[in-house]
Amino acid sequence: EQLQRILEQHNSLSALPLYSARKIYSVEEVRRGIRGGELINHYQPKVRLPSGEVTGVEVLVRWQHPEDGLVLPDQFIDTAEEHGLIDELTRIVLVKALQDCWHWQQANLSLSIAVNISISNLNSVDYPDFIVQSAKEAGVDLSNVVLEVTESQLMHNPLTVLDILTRLRLKNITLSIDDFGTGHSSLTQLRDIPFNELKVDAGFVHDACHQPARRAILEASFDMARRLGMKTAAEGVENLDDWRFLTMQVKCDIAQGYFIAKPMPAGELFDWMQEWEARRPS
Ligand code: C2E
Ligand code: CA
Ligand code: CA
Ligand code: CA
Repeated sequence: EQLQRILEQHNSLSALPLYSARKIYSVEEVRRGIRGGELINHYQPKVRLPSGEVTGVEVLVRWQHPEDGLVLPDQFIDTAEEHGLIDELTRIVLVKALQDCWHWQQANLSLSIAVNISISNLNSVDYPDFIVQSAKEAGVDLSNVVLEVTESQLMHNPLTVLDILTRLRLKNITLSIDDFGTGHSSLTQLRDIPFNELKVDAGFVHDACHQPARRAILEASFDMARRLGMKTAAEGVENLDDWRFLTMQVKCDIAQGYFIAKPMPAGELFDWMQEWEARRPS
């Protein structure tokens, strides 16, 4: 009887795939998904080192596809960018994240929310106003909003990008350079935009303790970040060795990665916090 139940459960689960097989979706389908309310936010915690205290979460969008299951962003973000849908997507993601952030605040959980933005968001001049307005409507202070811009996006750097990022900073929004080490931004750009945080790409983080080239890039990037007055962050922290190395050898400020938590739906955050309290390295 028990076996029967397990089999039934298994079959009802496998009838609908949990994750979509890697496939690239057409623009029509992506548009339908975005407008049809099929996007959902997952959240991945960011924690302070060495304490492990949770400082905030990064918002990572997923698409709950009616037939294919959960679709990861690399299967539709590029299409959305190329067809002028990314602005709409980011706005939906941001508003939802602000609402969730408000709920956490009500539960006495003060978490910042880090939203990934793309260059086209920065080309739309009303974007700063939209963020300010949305935060106000949601009842969330702008000091809790972090915007992550990838280093490679900074390279198409017309003056408007610099201008808009500066305006956002003046509103007390935190700016983070994402995937650092994978683009070729110039020192001038880094100096001219008032970034608060530099997040080194996962490719240089995991296993850096055993790989001298990764270690060198990590140390040099963090050294530069500190000189420019930025906080240092690392993504792709996958095991205790990574954690220890970042804490003890390179004195990184903020860590994120599967060792700490995978991205999860808003509703799982509280359970994870308890589990993390019991397990976090000291
Ligand atoms: P990202 O901003 O660099 O986000 C980190 C990615 O690494 C996420 O993939 C996350 O799930 C994954 N990750 C987290 N911890 C680990 C780890 O320990 N090891 C490894 N190997 N990977 C880890 P995800 O969620 O598939 O997102 C992929 C990319 O899609 C993001 O990269 C980001 O550039 C983009 N993206 C996600 N959400 C949005 C969004 O709302 N707007 C925009 N414009 N882009 C988004
Ligand atoms: Ca990011
Ligand atoms: Ca990143
Ligand atoms: Ca990355």
